[in-house]
Amino acid sequence: MAQNFLSKLVGSFSQGAADNPTVAMIEAAFSHHNLDIRYINCEVPPDRLRDAVNGARAMGWIGFNCSIPHKVSVIEHLDGLGESAAVMGAVNCAVLRDGKFIGENTDGKGFLQSLREVVDPGGKTVVMFGAGGAARAIGVELALAGAARIIIVNRGKERGQALVDLLNTKTSAKAELVIWQGMCKIPKDVEIVVNATSVGLYPDVDARLDLDPESLRAGLVVADVIPNPPRTWLIRQAEDRGCDVVDGLGMLVNQGVIGVKYWTGVDVDPLVMRDKLEEIFAA
Ligand code: NDP
Repeated sequence: MAQNFLSKLVGSFSQGAADNPTVAMIEAAFSHHNLDIRYINCEVPPDRLRDAVNGARAMGWIGFNCSIPHKVSVIEHLDGLGESAAVMGAVNCAVLRDGKFIGENTDGKGFLQSLREVVDPGGKTVVMFGAGGAARAIGVELALAGAARIIIVNRGKERGQALVDLLNTKTSAKAELVIWQGMCKIPKDVEIVVNATSVGLYPDVDARLDLDPESLRAGLVVADVIPNPPRTWLIRQAEDRGCDVVDGLGMLVNQGVIGVKYWTGVDVDPLVMRDKLEEIFAA
């Protein structure tokens, strides 16, 4: 039988591509599932993004991730947007559908998939720390998943207010802003706590949120976006107090699972990806 030497192609466009382990995680899944697909990790400056997207079209790529600094600017080069990407105004995953590159956002979807293993956010009251790109993606997905009330706690007013306004105008969730000054306590009626700030990310692994750990009571679900190290100060404090925890490694893995599903229709094994990332982060 004739062999096929033409692999399918996907990849990533970002700056700082050398620090992004996604290629290793995705290729571990491709290899495990015998998928003949290559993931090409590309360093692309902003003024070459258009050429990169057109190059992907010309070469028949079936999709690509894009990361910092292209998540917003890539939109003008795409042919359409999925629902949550349109609400957020940010794309991290383009998918070839009927010959068109459609922009999706798997940041928040990966988080939601991890969270749902522990709790359904429908009807829940959430406190989320942070209002940057990750918080925006997570806030929109929580709202689209039916979260009733989302309290954004952020130091800077401008970004915090922009996220609150986005949620209040484009989703049915009720959002409010608390400016983060001094030690924050989790109110008693809150059911889910999310750290979507960069506090705790390697190498600043001992950094802690300005949060009273005594206000983390048993029964709360506490989630952190930090993938490296996954056992952040917040996760450790929450575990010690009997909360259910969701770490940032799961979010990263699930983004990969969702991206591969979009590109190929195949459900890959998240454990293969998680093992690969743990091996990389331990090195
Ligand atoms: P941004 O720079 O867009 O936002 C950073 C946020 O963190 C802002 O709200 C900022 O507040 C807040 N912040 C930063 N330092 C502090 C501090 N010392 N105290 C309180 N708040 C602080 O970053 P992103 O949203 O893109 O990323 C945030 C984190 O999410 C990163 O660490 C990244 O690794 C992680 N992430 C994880 C993913 C995963 O798959 N697990 C996916 C995507 C991101 P302010 O506005 O006041 O400056």
